[in-house]
Formats: sequence, C-alpha cells, structure tokens
Amino acid sequence: MRVLVVEDDPMIATDVCEALDGAGFLTESCAEGNDASFRGDTEDYDLVILDLGLPGLDGLSILKQWRAAGRAMPVLILTARGAWSERVEGIEAGADDYLPKPFRMEELIARARALVRRASGHGSAIHDHGDLRLDGNRMSLSLRGKTLNLTGLEYRLVAYLIHHRGRTIPVTELLEHLYGDDESREANAIEAIITRLRRKLGSGYIVNRRGFGYELRGAPE
Ligand code: CA
Repeated sequence: MRVLVVEDDPMIATDVCEALDGAGFLTESCAEGNDASFRGDTEDYDLVILDLGLPGLDGLSILKQWRAAGRAMPVLILTARGAWSERVEGIEAGADDYLPKPFRMEELIARARALVRRASGHGSAIHDHGDLRLDGNRMSLSLRGKTLNLTGLEYRLVAYLIHHRGRTIPVTELLEHLYGDDESREANAIEAIITRLRRKLGSGYIVNRRGFGYELRGAPE
C-alpha cells in the first residue's frame, strides 16, 4: 500500500512515516505544496495523508485540484485542533477523513487502514440504508428483502451513493467512478441511470441537489 505523506513539519513527517512503515505501508514523504500536487497528479497512491498548512501551495487547494482532475485516491487531512471550519472545508474539498493535531499514531494507523480498505472495496460487505440492503459480496441490492434486478452501472452508482451517504456527490465524481478516464462520458448518462434507479427503488432515496449533485436520503414515510 503506497502512501504519500504531505507534511512540512519534519518531526511529524518522520513520526508518521515511521508509524505507517511499521504498519506495513510503503511511505513517501513530501514537504512542499507544489511538489505534493504534482506527485498526486502523476503517481498512483493508495492513500494520501495531507497537512493543510504547507509552503508553496496549501493542502485545501491541492485537494481541490486533485478532485477537479478526477484523482480519486483516499485523502486523510491533518487539521489544527478545534479548527472545525478546516474540517468542513476539507470534507467539501473532497477529503475522506480528517484527524486533528496532535493525534496518536495508533489512531492514524487505524484511520489509514479503514480508508484503504474502504477504497479497495473490502470494508464491511453489508450496508443497510432504510429498507435498502447492499451486499458487497454478492454485488446485489435488495429492497425490503427482495433482490432488485440492477444493471452493473446501476449497482455501482447506488453502491457509491450508499458508501458516501451523508454527502452530496458531484456528477463529475459519479462519472469518474462509473467510467474512469473514458473521455466520452457525459453528465446526462448519470441522469438516465438515476431515473432508472428511482423507478426500481422508489423516488425518495436519491435526491438531486441542483448545481451540487446527488445524495442519498431516507425514503419518505
Ligand atoms: Ca504544516
């Protein structure tokens, strides 16, 4: 598991890298924003640990650029203690998790493992949401105990929404997830898949927040 550690405080960087190496990750460290941005653009990492205050280019800008460019690796941001606005901004910019400084290395390792596991699809296989049950092993979705007949694209889209519930997912991110780097992908393809899914699930689960993206809600009573 290849991890990029972006941190300009040499003591923290060393401690984090040693702890991750000891836990079986393969770490690379980087202390400057533009360098970090470039590496995340051009190299494939399984996880990035990203400090926000960096020389050159700040962590939030780096993260926004990566996400805008479709770079989808899990990113855990390191925030200042008590700086809740940093967390909110970080999550909005596409962070998968955050850890306030100072933190315990055990906590960092646990979060890092969880993110990598989730990204590689080996998290808990069963996810319940309202009357829906997603079974990651069987790649199936059931509604009130009845297995729904979904196409591969429909399954991947609804599974992504369930895995990222509580967050509005931009259409660009859904496209990236469903089609990868395929240049011919189009936003209205997502709309078409959502329409079919709504017919199968009922209209209450998938909500379109105009200008923001899609989000999973509980079904209406
Ligand atoms: Ca810093």
